[in-house]
Amino acid sequence: MTLAVAQILAHPGFLKLELMRRGLRVEGDSLAALPGTPRFGATGHALFGSAGDLDLELPRGTFATVPIEPRLVERSPYRLVHDGDVWAVTADAADAPRTRVKVVPPSSFFAQRTAESGVPFGQIGTVHGPYLALSPTNRCQFLATSDRCRFCGVGQKVAAHDALPVDDIVEAVRVARAEHDVNMVHLSVGWLGTDDGGVQVLEPYIAAIKRHFDILVAVDALPPKDDGWIDRTYGMGADAISYNLELWDPALFAQICPGPARVIGRERFLEALGYATTVFPSGGVNCHLIVGLEPLASTRAGMEALARMGVVPVLPVYRPFKGRDLRADGDVARFEPTLEELRDLYRDLHRAVRREKLGLGLVRDLATVTTPVEARLFSGPEGLFRRLGHRLSGTRFGRRTSARLSDLRRALRVREVGLLDP
Ligand code: SF4
Repeated sequence: MTLAVAQILAHPGFLKLELMRRGLRVEGDSLAALPGTPRFGATGHALFGSAGDLDLELPRGTFATVPIEPRLVERSPYRLVHDGDVWAVTADAADAPRTRVKVVPPSSFFAQRTAESGVPFGQIGTVHGPYLALSPTNRCQFLATSDRCRFCGVGQKVAAHDALPVDDIVEAVRVARAEHDVNMVHLSVGWLGTDDGGVQVLEPYIAAIKRHFDILVAVDALPPKDDGWIDRTYGMGADAISYNLELWDPALFAQICPGPARVIGRERFLEALGYATTVFPSGGVNCHLIVGLEPLASTRAGMEALARMGVVPVLPVYRPFKGRDLRADGDVARFEPTLEELRDLYRDLHRAVRREKLGLGLVRDLATVTTPVEARLFSGPEGLFRRLGHRLSGTRFGRRTSARLSDLRRALRVREVGLLDP
């Protein structure tokens, strides 16, 4: 059954999905009234502050980071409107209601530079509401070659930087935390051509972050050559690990992610993910599959298989990344799902993670993705959000994981099995 506009606007889960995949038009008076000045650069790419997209808080504490760049969103039916300081999202349909939202001003994080090396924070990371992601180095050996992941926008707009001083990253966390309710730092690293998958470079940053803050650390890396590095990653202080296969279909994985497919291989991704579930706590291992770059049946098969392995599937809907729009490539097939298909996919994601009893405290607060925690919004009959009486934050199912408890578990486990022993 096709969803009516009124249903979509009344449901934060549907609205987040729609705004992320179709974007939001911000025009005329609303554009002029936005807190912070959006700039549309020579490339036509929107810069809100310097952050890119617009951050919104939808009803029920649901964060969404949505594209507003005119070229990408011109066909979206959704518009941002305002009455003084009161903001709402509505649609072009004559009887469309208005859903009140909060516009989150661009973070002052993007206006500052690191004290030691003078690099703008916006070049080493991003913060969207409670989501903080940092890359101590943005080098990746695939970037300048035909092995580059086809969707990857890393290094398109900023110069490559080698590993930054540890104090710069600690400072970035401090600055972000002063303004945002950040409970987890996501540290990412690309392909450095080493057997460890890049985590050795991250080790001093993880240690320093853990020393200075009561905070969780999630690592996004490539699978290492041998499993000992997975033990070491947990032992060095990572609370969660992602090895992102991105596409479940083997041929499409090889086409879209040629470097990881050639150098690491799909089998090693799956092996490493499986092994990591024996090391990290439940919910501490996740894998992204991008929705829209392969047939939905393939994404769904991957989601089910990962969940059965004890891996939390994270399913971002494809959208241009850092100004790189893969959809312009003629040889890349497109499999854009309808909203109803997405609803069913997320409903089944919610069922799969519940069936496998996977912890979800480590995959929440992702403004750019419909998280498995938010997937519960689609679990009611006809997606009519039976449980929306509860706020997402602080509910039993989506409760934030405590950094202190996670560190305590690690201390016990490292002692028990000697994870840091050579
Ligand atoms: S591994 Fe792929 S996605 Fe990651 S930085 Fe390198 S090219 Fe980009």
